[in-house]
Amino acid sequence: MKFCHHCAAAITVHIPEGDDKPRHVCVACETIFYQNPKNVVGTLPIYEDKVLLCKRAIEPRSGKWTLPAGFMENGESSLEGAIRETREEAGASIRVANDSLYTLFNLPNINQMYLFFRAELANLDFSAGIESEDVALFREDEIPWSEIAFPVVKSTLEHYFADRPTQHFPVRMFDVIHGDNRTISTTLISHSTPLQNTS
Ligand SMILES: [Zn+2]
Repeated sequence: MKFCHHCAAAITVHIPEGDDKPRHVCVACETIFYQNPKNVVGTLPIYEDKVLLCKRAIEPRSGKWTLPAGFMENGESSLEGAIRETREEAGASIRVANDSLYTLFNLPNINQMYLFFRAELANLDFSAGIESEDVALFREDEIPWSEIAFPVVKSTLEHYFADRPTQHFPVRMFDVIHGDNRTISTTLISHSTPLQNTS
């Protein structure tokens, strides 16, 4: 940002007194504009043995498949945001249980946090929203694994299909680190209850 949202004066970047990080500060009214991570919320919509995926119609990763997800809006809860994104991107109505929180991904390199909730499709009445080119149901053996848009989506799908035989879906938290040469590593940090298989 170049100009203050309050008084339109110039913005400088420096470490304010008592702080330890450079901030955007207005030279006139001295307002500090903090920049904090953004939350992305989405769902894993299930119908019988299938998962609903959206084919992205927008960059990044246009043409790749993803779970319905997007940035939280002010004034809504994370679950409300996930339900809204599912309606907007997939035209889908879903049912969510109280224990539906499933995966949490910290992405410190790009200043984002992703949350996915497990959900049940309420009916088969779904259709692509403006950010989607297509919406479809996939069984595990039909998932276009090499065409999945984001590692957080791939990881959520993999854990879901691994958990499903046990019907035990612990909440898992991961750190996703973007390394050199475009490598991305996803590390499990914690889960809500002991996993069935620790191997
Ligand atoms: Zn100002």
